[in-house]
Amino acid sequence: EVATGSGSGRRRLGVMGGTFDPIHHGHLVAASEVASLFHLDEVVFVPTGQPWQKGHKVVSPPEDRYLMTVIATASNPQFSVSRIDIDRPGPTYTIDTLRDLSNLNADADLFFITGADALSQILGWRDASELFSLAHFIGVTRPGHDLTDDGLPEGGVSLVEIPALAISSTDCRARVVKGDPVWYLVPDGVVRYIDKRQLYRGE
Ligand code: ATP
Ligand code: MG
Repeated sequence: EVATGSGSGRRRLGVMGGTFDPIHHGHLVAASEVASLFHLDEVVFVPTGQPWQKGHKVVSPPEDRYLMTVIATASNPQFSVSRIDIDRPGPTYTIDTLRDLSNLNADADLFFITGADALSQILGWRDASELFSLAHFIGVTRPGHDLTDDGLPEGGVSLVEIPALAISSTDCRARVVKGDPVWYLVPDGVVRYIDKRQLYRGE
């Protein structure tokens, strides 16, 4: 692929991992802001397979979460969606995501985008120290969570403030259960998809 956007000639590839159950405007604003601030060429959204931290919870089928992510990102030429985590058997570990993406994108530097809540958990992730050799980490502000790089490797993490959107997938699911609207919290196509597939009704 053609190198653009960076003096080194290497592609700058953002990675937005998440369960995306459902994807919402908090995820999209985070990716868009970081793409702009860090001059990324592309952001690839990577829906998890079975998330290991959420093993005890019921998560919607991977194919539904993947399709909602495609619907939400399709109109942005800088956004793409990867199936690598949903197609890998077993629980998803970010170390595997980053190893696979760096092998598939040898011409790119990786920038892993994460909200303040997830950033504070990273030291507990599998192979935590190797994570920082595979990607530069970018922590973004999220309402209700403190953004800090305490304990994380110096130079491995950047912290950025983004417009505050107090939206979570957990709250979106709860709203659907109660019959409350999710319009304008998630993209219109995702509202329609949730309705079409009757997601979250049985919880
Ligand atoms: P859940 O409530 O099911 O955990 P979530 O809203 O936290 O869902 P995830 O799929 O768990 O969404 O999050 C994926 C990534 O997006 C994480 O790094 C998370 O911190 C970040 N993120 C999610 N919502 C926001 C938001 N409103 N602002 C900033 N970052 C966010
Ligand atoms: Mg979460």
